[in-house]
Amino acid sequence: MSGQCDAIVIGAGPVGEVAASRLNRDGLNTALVERELIGGECGYWACIPSKTLLRPAEVRGEAERTAGTSAPDQRWPEVAAYRDFMIRHLDDSAQVTGYERDGVRVYKGDGRHAGPGRVEVAGELLETRRVVIATGSDARIPDIPGLAEAGYWTNREATTIQEIPDSILILGGGPVGIELGQFLRRIGTDVTLIQAAERLLPREDPRVGELIAEQLRSEGIALHLGASVVSASAGAGRRTLTLADGQTLSATEVLIATGRAPRVNDIGLETIGITPDPRGIPIDERCRVTDGVWAIGDVTGVMPFTHVGMYQGRITCADIAGRAARADYSAIPRVVFCDPEVAAVGLSADQATERGIAVRTATVALADAIARPWTYQKDPGGELGIIADRDSRTLIGAWAVGPLAGEWIHYATLAIKTRAGIDVLSDTVAQFPTYTEAYLKAIEQLDL
Ligand SMILES: Cc1cc2nc3c(=O)[nH]c(=O)nc-3n(C[C@H](O)[C@H](O)[C@H](O)COP(=O)(O)OP(=O)(O)OC[C@H]3O[C@@H](n4cnc5c(N)ncnc54)[C@H](O)[C@@H]3O)c2cc1C
Repeated sequence: MSGQCDAIVIGAGPVGEVAASRLNRDGLNTALVERELIGGECGYWACIPSKTLLRPAEVRGEAERTAGTSAPDQRWPEVAAYRDFMIRHLDDSAQVTGYERDGVRVYKGDGRHAGPGRVEVAGELLETRRVVIATGSDARIPDIPGLAEAGYWTNREATTIQEIPDSILILGGGPVGIELGQFLRRIGTDVTLIQAAERLLPREDPRVGELIAEQLRSEGIALHLGASVVSASAGAGRRTLTLADGQTLSATEVLIATGRAPRVNDIGLETIGITPDPRGIPIDERCRVTDGVWAIGDVTGVMPFTHVGMYQGRITCADIAGRAARADYSAIPRVVFCDPEVAAVGLSADQATERGIAVRTATVALADAIARPWTYQKDPGGELGIIADRDSRTLIGAWAVGPLAGEWIHYATLAIKTRAGIDVLSDTVAQFPTYTEAYLKAIEQLDL
């Protein structure tokens, strides 16, 4: 087998997969290098298992809130078996065969630059004019004395559990801590969530954090907000965390959900003259790192979502094919798949104000504004907030907490992306009765 190829993709998570498939489809002789499993973190230990595990709990919640129904049984062995099916029993042999059948050369092993245009893997030296780095990210582990000795879970252990823990302390009140905390609570674990910031989901509008905190507390999750952990220890089958105010909390497990660290070590970046920053590998708007090198996905530190990395993969392949393409991150949706879902897109009111934009906002309580929440469930809640630019009379941000918010946020995504004017939006009919109608009610309240 020749060591020459037209393109090499290092890392076969969802993002590297998009790049390799497109490059191959564009007729480039492509090598795909993967050290673990094709499908990456997302396919086996993140997006796919977490959404699969959350679904039965969501169905139970829906049944409890629907008139005339009550919570169905939750049979953990069947939930776990379906999760195992969805993560392919941690076996990617069908993916390897599929790529090879399509003409992509798959190399299993650690890929590492060995100078410009050269990548070493499994004792072979591959040469090319184009390298795409898609090595993803690992859980970021905080530097807490005693934590390593006490032992902890990351998303990997939490998403592949076979036994439900009695109790767990979760560090981190971002999407991962919230989703996994709610899943575990609803399957019977005693959950305590510790968050250093004063609110959950601190990058979103403050109201989002309040609504989700109310929801989690109502389910019996203990929240410690504005709390930092100063030490950890273990003994007698329990792990204990000590907070800065002297409080001690203990549980059978500890889950670390305090963000992601880009996988930039041992991939030979120094041999191509690249120094990553703490967020990841710096890229330009075409995802270029340097001559003949592109980086995409979590390793870049740009909004670590699968859909962002896949978008970057499409930009990179267009650039390699000589088509003009530039990444625009102004309308990237963000979703937390808790129940009710949280979704947001564009700027928050604070971010817009910091940029000097003349901001106008409106918030509607879904149950007051539209009919759908009442046909959907008893005692409905949830809110939609919109952020507009007074001068351009366009939508620049939105957030929503409510059933299926991750689906209907796309209305705002498209409006922001296309810079559709408020007058166009208010003259666009939304189907009755749906959550999408709430946008029209919010737009009516804007003081423009
Ligand atoms: C619990 C959890 C839930 C999430 N849920 C969602 C969600 O619902 N929606 C969403 O959009 N995002 C979600 N995310 C984020 C999402 O998982 C990441 O954004 C996504 O996995 C990034 O894809 P990637 O291909 O860049 O990296 P990864 O999925 O990390 O894949 C990178 C691949 O590169 C390989 N690799 C690394 N170094 C080398 C090397 N030197 N040589 C060869 N191979 C290498 C790795 O083995 C891996 O297979 C979630 C994250 C977590 C932790």
